[in-house]
Amino acid sequence: MECEACGSRNMERRTVETILVEECQLCGNLQGDDAAVARIEEVRRGRERGLDEGIAPLVQALESSGVLQVTHASSGSLQSRESPHLFFRVTKNDAIHLERLLRTLEHANRETELVWLVELTLQHSLLYILRPRFWKRPQEVTPDEIRLARRDLPLLAARLRRDLQLSWWRD
Ligand SMILES: [Zn+2]
Repeated sequence: MECEACGSRNMERRTVETILVEECQLCGNLQGDDAAVARIEEVRRGRERGLDEGIAPLVQALESSGVLQVTHASSGSLQSRESPHLFFRVTKNDAIHLERLLRTLEHANRETELVWLVELTLQHSLLYILRPRFWKRPQEVTPDEIRLARRDLPLLAARLRRDLQLSWWRD
């Protein structure tokens, strides 16, 4: 195997970010399964922004819409009983894009462990929050429920990416 970036034959099979790929020992270029390489780049980009690995794919899926901009995101904390959440703004035509996002959520919620919703909050300016709904006070949320919410994150990211390709998101 030859490096597609620099032509070196010094390729090594390696586990990067828990994913097995071929890495060029000369220039660091990663090769292999396209989805695997994309996933590694996603994790790395997320880390540069200070995002934890669990939430980064969903942040990037939201932002790939071109109109949803994440201002803060976290996959939560078991210790402080904080569930995963994302704060975002809509850069244009809020009503139209929120409607699309909510339709994606409505479909995704049939497959997720928890029900996810979008709330509106005022923090200097208006921001939206995407988070799971718990029918209880925040301090009563259990670590197991936070784990369930975290399990939903990759599914939400995948469903959003899929829907973004569909005509009703594009038009
Ligand atoms: Zn190379």
